[in-house]
Amino acid sequence: MALRGVRDLSSATLSALLIWFQLGRTGLGYSSVPLTQRPLGLDVACPLPVDDKAESWRYRRSLWTHQPECEHSMDRTARYCAYTNAQHGSRGWSVVTSPETAADSVSFLSLSPPLKAPSLTSDSHGAPYKVVEMPGKGRGLVAVRDIKQYEEILLDYATLLVDIEFTTKVPAVLGYRLLHAAVDRLSDPASVLDLGQSNGFAQDVVENVVRTNAFHTNLGEVPHLAVYPAVSRINHACKPNAYTRFMPETLQVSVAAARDIPTGEEISISYIPLGQPTPERQRRLHKWGFTCTCSLCSAPEAEREASDARRREIERLRDDAVRAFQAGRPYTALRLTKQVLALLPAEGLFPLYSEQYENMARIFYVVRDMENAERYANMSLGVLREQGYVGEVGREMVEGMWRRFEDEEGGRY
Ligand SMILES: [Zn+2]
Repeated sequence: MALRGVRDLSSATLSALLIWFQLGRTGLGYSSVPLTQRPLGLDVACPLPVDDKAESWRYRRSLWTHQPECEHSMDRTARYCAYTNAQHGSRGWSVVTSPETAADSVSFLSLSPPLKAPSLTSDSHGAPYKVVEMPGKGRGLVAVRDIKQYEEILLDYATLLVDIEFTTKVPAVLGYRLLHAAVDRLSDPASVLDLGQSNGFAQDVVENVVRTNAFHTNLGEVPHLAVYPAVSRINHACKPNAYTRFMPETLQVSVAAARDIPTGEEISISYIPLGQPTPERQRRLHKWGFTCTCSLCSAPEAEREASDARRREIERLRDDAVRAFQAGRPYTALRLTKQVLALLPAEGLFPLYSEQYENMARIFYVVRDMENAERYANMSLGVLREQGYVGEVGREMVEGMWRRFEDEEGGRY
C-alpha cells in the first residue's frame, strides 16, 4: 500500500489497490486514448433522460438506434431501460440502466471512436494473437509473434453494460426481457451470446454470460457490470503475462503485455487481484466456477510454497513499512520498502513497482534527501508511463508529487 497520512490508511489494502489497478488508474489520467476519429455525428450536448414513454427519443437526434424498452423496479420507485446503439463499432453497444444514468453518462459515445472490434477469428489479420482451442478450457488467445513488455495486445470496448442494482430491483422475468432486448438489438448478438457460461446460479443465458464474464465498472457514478467480448476470450492465470487497462472516458479496455511474451505462449490475465497465496486464490476463483490449473497453481509443491511464502512476506513488509513510516521511523520504512522491491520480480507483481517507488520518493522527501526523492519519483512515474497509465512524464508531474507529499506529510517531520 502507499505510504500516506493516517487518515486514508484504513482504505488502503493490497486487494483494493490491485483491483483498482486491474481496472485502471484514473487518478493520473490516461492520455493515450485516441479521440480524434470522427464522432457518431449525434447531438449529445445535453441529453435528457428518455424512456419508452418519451416520444422524443427518436426526434431529438437520440444516441439510440432503437426505442428504449423499460421496466419498473419491484417497489416502483425506479425504472430501468435497455438502450442500444447498434451502429457503434462493429458489434453495437447496449446498456441496461436508469434513464438518468443513461442521460448523464453516455456522452462518451460521441467521443469513443467507432472502432472495429478486435478480430477473434483464427486468421485475425495483423493482430499479435490468434484464437485457438485450448485443451480443457475452451478457446484462448495465443501469441503469433514475440510481444514486448507493456506493448498493447488488443483494445476492446464494452458491448453490454448492466446496472448492478437493476439485477436485484427488477423482477427476474422482466429483467431477462430487458437483457435479451439489449443483446438482440446489437449488430452482433453472437459476440455476447457465444461467451463462456459457467455461473451455477444463473437462470438465463444472458444473465449467465454477464455473471461469468463481466467486469465491474462505473457509468457516471453508478456501479455497472460490463461485458468485453474480446477480453473475455483471454484465460486466467495467477501469474499472468498480460494485464488490462481501463479507460473511463470511453469505457474501453486495453490489454497489454506484463512481460515479454514469446511466440506460441498463451496470453493470460488475472481475474482476481494479483499477489495472493494459493488458498486465497483458489477460494476466489471458485466463484468463477473453476479450479485453477495455471502454471503457478500446478507447479511442484515446493515451488508453490515458496511463492506463497514470498507473497505473504510482501504483504507483511508493506504493512510494516506503512506502520514504521506513520510512527515516525522513515529509515525503518526505507529498509522494509527495499525488501518489498527485492521480492516483487519473483512474483511478477509489476503493478506494485510504481507504488513502491513512490513510497521510496516519499520517504526520501520527508528526510529531505531530495536527490534520491527525485530519482524515485521519476522511476515511479516512468513505470506508469511505460505501463500506459500516463503520458510523457515531465517536471510538473514530479512537482505535483511534491505538493501531494507536502499536503499529506506537512508538519509531521
Ligand atoms: Zn492459478
